[in-house]
Amino acid sequence: MTSANPLTPKERMQVPRQQMPEQDAQDRVRNFTEVPLGLTPDMAMLEARRCLECRKPTCMSGCPVGVDIPAFLTLIVEGKFVEAAWKIKETNILPAICGRVCPQDEQCEKLCLVGKKKHPIGIGMLERFVADYERSTGEVRIPNVGEPTGCKVAVVGSGPAGLTAAFELAKRGHTVTIFEALHRPGGVLFYGIPRFRLPAEVIEAEIDVLKQMGVEIILNAPVGKVVTIDELLNEEGCDAIFVGTGAGLPWFTNLPGENLNGIYSANEYLTRINLMRADQFPNNATPVYCGQRVAVIGAGNTAMDAARVSLRMSPEEVHIFYRRTRNEAPARTEELEHAIQEGVQFHWLTAPTRFIGDDNYFVKQIEVQKMELGEPDASGRRRPVPIPGSEEVYDVDTVVLALGFGVNPLITDSTPEIETNKWGVVQVNKETGETSKEGVFAAGDVITGGATVILAMGQARTAALGLHNWLIERKGLDMPVEATALEAV
Ligand SMILES: Cc1cc2nc3c(=O)[nH]c(=O)nc-3n(C[C@H](O)[C@H](O)[C@H](O)COP(=O)(O)OP(=O)(O)OC[C@H]3O[C@@H](n4cnc5c(N)ncnc54)[C@H](O)[C@@H]3O)c2cc1C
Repeated sequence: MTSANPLTPKERMQVPRQQMPEQDAQDRVRNFTEVPLGLTPDMAMLEARRCLECRKPTCMSGCPVGVDIPAFLTLIVEGKFVEAAWKIKETNILPAICGRVCPQDEQCEKLCLVGKKKHPIGIGMLERFVADYERSTGEVRIPNVGEPTGCKVAVVGSGPAGLTAAFELAKRGHTVTIFEALHRPGGVLFYGIPRFRLPAEVIEAEIDVLKQMGVEIILNAPVGKVVTIDELLNEEGCDAIFVGTGAGLPWFTNLPGENLNGIYSANEYLTRINLMRADQFPNNATPVYCGQRVAVIGAGNTAMDAARVSLRMSPEEVHIFYRRTRNEAPARTEELEHAIQEGVQFHWLTAPTRFIGDDNYFVKQIEVQKMELGEPDASGRRRPVPIPGSEEVYDVDTVVLALGFGVNPLITDSTPEIETNKWGVVQVNKETGETSKEGVFAAGDVITGGATVILAMGQARTAALGLHNWLIERKGLDMPVEATALEAV
């Protein structure tokens, strides 16, 4: 087939990667509106033309949900933007979300051949562009739903894992009901990631597609409290269950003074602001205390979000303390760069040792210690080693702990047959996503601990197919068994 790309391979290599326009850093720290502004159609076409159309494309093997990246780039080159969005939606129901928050530099773009010599193709920004284009033109395609199978599946949790499982199961004709503990669907997408990175309307529009596929979402329904897994299976007529309850249990430092007022887990802090809109208190009922000198502990996406949200609450200073260096920081490159541009002050190789309060038990200072990097630990990263006598004290009045997350035990406490490891992480068959309890499948952060949106979605796809195959066998459905596991990325 001849290529619609008017550029020769040599010319393609000479086109620089397009830079997405952004709100100026000085302006954006005063608002919660989205920072990157999106590509224009001309920029998108030019960026897509940079693709070398490799005979054996490597980028696709970096996508845990198997998006046909070469095909959607070709459609962009041809100016068929809506069709490009539909192509992505064959395997990814959340393209506008993934285009914004996926760590593409560690996934598809990392494997792009252009990236060996130049900057890789901006696959993420192109995914975002076509998804936004589809939404703005009103040509949103609702994926086909299969003939009803008569099987009823409960999906627990409405984060990226639950939404992806619901999509894959509804597509195959099963009746799907999502049970969500919170009053809004989306999981971390809504309560963790701030609106200036992921606007509410983007999340709502992608969830709306699922609703139009017939998926029912029941909010304010924590499974394990209002109904148990066993009740769903034995009394509510569910044939199988998918658990995608994430890892929403914050880790703490256990250092002296951690219980002082003004010290938050990032989970609580971000939920108050993103979900409950505490930035609009008293117009909204939920307050949050954000003082003049904020310290955030950690350097993952959560820490960047906590620091950048804090900046928008107008303190004098926001500091990040991290015990390793910038090279080991787990945050997406873009989030780190945005935080630096916006004025967050970074203290690398620095870890807290205690929190110091006033007579009213409000935090007033943080004591930190300098570190140096020693031998690699189990994670493969070099272990931070404290330097004796290097303690320093900083005045702070708000501290946000962004140290990582564990799995909430509500499901496993109420359903003890679901096996976990010693950290409470649910154990599954990696090929099928099935847990140790028959008919119960799981994926996402609940089986890994805190990870990424796209990994949660990739695993959810595998587990949804595992569940579907299980239903075929158990219910004698006249449907072909499908291959489950994608190559692990
Ligand atoms: C602040 C923050 C920023 C992040 N930024 C990024 C990023 O930029 N890019 C990226 O790729 N990843 C990012 N991540 C990680 C990513 O969001 C998660 O890996 C991903 O959301 C996991 O998806 P999930 O569906 O497994 O779980 P979640 O998104 O946690 O969703 C689980 C859902 O289950 C619900 N639930 C829990 N228990 C129950 C129950 N018993 N009954 C009913 N419902 C229940 C929860 O309320 C929640 O809605 C970030 C994480 C955080 C915390």
